[in-house]
Amino acid sequence: MAKLIQHRNKCIGCGVCENMQPEYWRMSKKDGKATLLNSQQKNNVYVLHIADKNISLSRLTAKACPVRIIAVQ
Ligand code: SF4
Repeated sequence: MAKLIQHRNKCIGCGVCENMQPEYWRMSKKDGKATLLNSQQKNNVYVLHIADKNISLSRLTAKACPVRIIAVQ
């Protein structure tokens, strides 16, 4: 198990994460930012537990985020 983490308030709404992992990310029609689906929020940080088989692609998604607000731990 790993954690996929997003500092959502700094999202610029580019859509890269949704393109790469649509099972985890959805662009919000309300504010244009990416929503980490089924995540839990604490102090504006969103966290989702992900399966080991999805860690590699999640790391690539984190790298591809232009403002580097996605992390895998
Ligand atoms: S890749 Fe980063 S900046 Fe772009 S929509 Fe996703 S979280 Fe927001």
